[in-house]
Amino acid sequence: MKRFVILGVIVGLSVLVTACKKTAPQPEPKAQAEAFQWQVDQFADVKILRYQVKDFETLTPLQKELVYYLSQATLCGRDITFAQNYKHNLVIRKTLDAIVEGYKGDRNDPQWQTFMIYVKRVWYANGIHHDYSSDKFEPGFTADYFAALVKGSEGVKFPLAEGQTVDGLLAFLKPILFDPSVDAKKVSQDSTKDLVKSSAVNFYEGVTQAEAETFYAGMAKKDDPTPVSYGLNSRLIKKDGKIVEQVASINGLYGPAIAKIVFWLEKAAGVAENEVQKRVIEQLIAYYKSGDLKDFDAYNILWVADTQSRIDFVNGFIEVYNDPLGRKAMWESNVNFKDLEATKRADTISANAQWFEDNSPIDPKFKKKEVKGVSAKVITAAMLGGDCYPATPIGINLPNANWIRTQHGSKSVTLENITYASSQSSLLSGFGPEFCASPEELERSRTYGAYAGNIHTDLHEVLGHGSGRLLPGVTNEALKNYHSPVEEARADLFALYYIMDPKMIELGLLPSVESAKAQYDGSIRNGLLTQMVRIQPGKTIEQAHMRCRAMVSHWVYEKGLPENVIVKEVRDGKTYFVIKDYQKLRALYGKLLAEVQRITSEGDYEAAKALIETYGVKLDQDLHKEVLDRYAKLKLAPYTGFMNALYVPVVENGKIIDVKVEYPSDYVQQMLWYGKEYSYL
Ligand code: ZN
Repeated sequence: MKRFVILGVIVGLSVLVTACKKTAPQPEPKAQAEAFQWQVDQFADVKILRYQVKDFETLTPLQKELVYYLSQATLCGRDITFAQNYKHNLVIRKTLDAIVEGYKGDRNDPQWQTFMIYVKRVWYANGIHHDYSSDKFEPGFTADYFAALVKGSEGVKFPLAEGQTVDGLLAFLKPILFDPSVDAKKVSQDSTKDLVKSSAVNFYEGVTQAEAETFYAGMAKKDDPTPVSYGLNSRLIKKDGKIVEQVASINGLYGPAIAKIVFWLEKAAGVAENEVQKRVIEQLIAYYKSGDLKDFDAYNILWVADTQSRIDFVNGFIEVYNDPLGRKAMWESNVNFKDLEATKRADTISANAQWFEDNSPIDPKFKKKEVKGVSAKVITAAMLGGDCYPATPIGINLPNANWIRTQHGSKSVTLENITYASSQSSLLSGFGPEFCASPEELERSRTYGAYAGNIHTDLHEVLGHGSGRLLPGVTNEALKNYHSPVEEARADLFALYYIMDPKMIELGLLPSVESAKAQYDGSIRNGLLTQMVRIQPGKTIEQAHMRCRAMVSHWVYEKGLPENVIVKEVRDGKTYFVIKDYQKLRALYGKLLAEVQRITSEGDYEAAKALIETYGVKLDQDLHKEVLDRYAKLKLAPYTGFMNALYVPVVENGKIIDVKVEYPSDYVQQMLWYGKEYSYL
């Protein structure tokens, strides 16, 4: 619900960020782009980059040890994510891993290349469904070839069930991998169907949407001021005709993996930076032991209050994007530490939170009288895991429970070393020249794009999600499957409205109005044009952030038509969108923000549905084809994943005295190694 994903190609458009002297903490970009190999792999629609753990060497030995333990805890949950995405993912991944390790046949065969592309995609998506479109991957090789691979592999173990033969395994996997109609969609958004039954995601077993909704309907008491997030960390199954929850915990669902996570968290608690952080980790351990969501809330309250530690982490069942009913969360984790220089920027935004809330264009009755505890920081990601690996959000705002956010505040972070790696890797990309409407727009984007993008992310995360309030009796669940795109739109619109405000220059956050224009150019270009490169021909937009961006851009384009706010130009068969009046566009963003806030505050499901379905789902087929053709000629990948760094402890007399960081560059080896070293389910 509250995270900001990489804009893919938008981020990749930026080059030099020298405009704002206040920050510009990064080394001279061009020199570093040559010195460090950012991109290490590319396959299907994905490129794999590496990120640098900037300033790791400035941490104390004890802080490094803490990062090391938390990183181990991050990696130990990988299997949970695979299992959650689809119930057969682990068997599939283990089979694929065994083939890649053990196949003795011809690896120069074109079919082998196709097979490896499939394997890399499965690793990237933590399963056999595309992580954005949610469609099952087409293998591209035959079932016979697959059988030959399994039988031609030596010295490896296949994940055979008790009494199962290799032939039995192949027969079992055949329809799952090769029949496109079997479990075709991970998360169905088609509200004319039973959303639960038509989704392959592994949150429900044998229950219908109506049964699941009824099961949870009675749980949240209307007058409970501190409701737990019912169903967040469980599977709902029908057993002997009865509907029961399987709860994740050390002795419950995903127990063996959680036990390992707890093992490393206990070590981490032993080297915590301070008492507050120690209590945070201990409370998380208590939650993993009990599975009780009250313990999870207690953990979140402690976690929000820990703003002084340099090291921080996310570890748990957090985001509900993958549940068609918006209730059950994927397991994810990351470890990070504060980027001290860049955090000053977010602090400035945070310190002025009340001004932004008071001046927001929304109806006063939906405003927060007092904006509490908006803590913001810029972080360096040190390890990515679970649903945050290899594809990671570039900003995170947690916790998600509304009452905790209201009463205790929230933490908001921007993963600057990740966005930096993205922009560096695309220094030479031909994307900008192809889709920018003019040399001026391209230049503006190159000069200000990355920096303005970071400010936009700060505003989105630090203020956007935390602004406004729900009317009494309204909950997050009111908007059902439209909650996520509407929530993202609310945060995006808040950021878009304010980035053009003179206050940004006054606060020293932006060097000029030109930089804000770069963000407007980028948003419109992305929402109306370039994000289409991520959608297959004939498909509609499914992913929440993409629905949000399409909706926002199409809405302002349409509403601005009478006054030519944004003009569509077609030259040599190529379509461009040109912003003619930035101030009028800002006013439109403000107007839409007011409406989206109203929808959220009142829980107006019908209005949310109309907004998203009208502007955020469908694509203009001709324009889509044009964009795909133009994009294909550039030979770029629209999705980005990241390889993790490797931490090597230096041990003396049985004690860790230092930790070294290394940057491996072989994606296949990292995945195989994780599969071997961190597989517990
Ligand atoms: Zn967000």
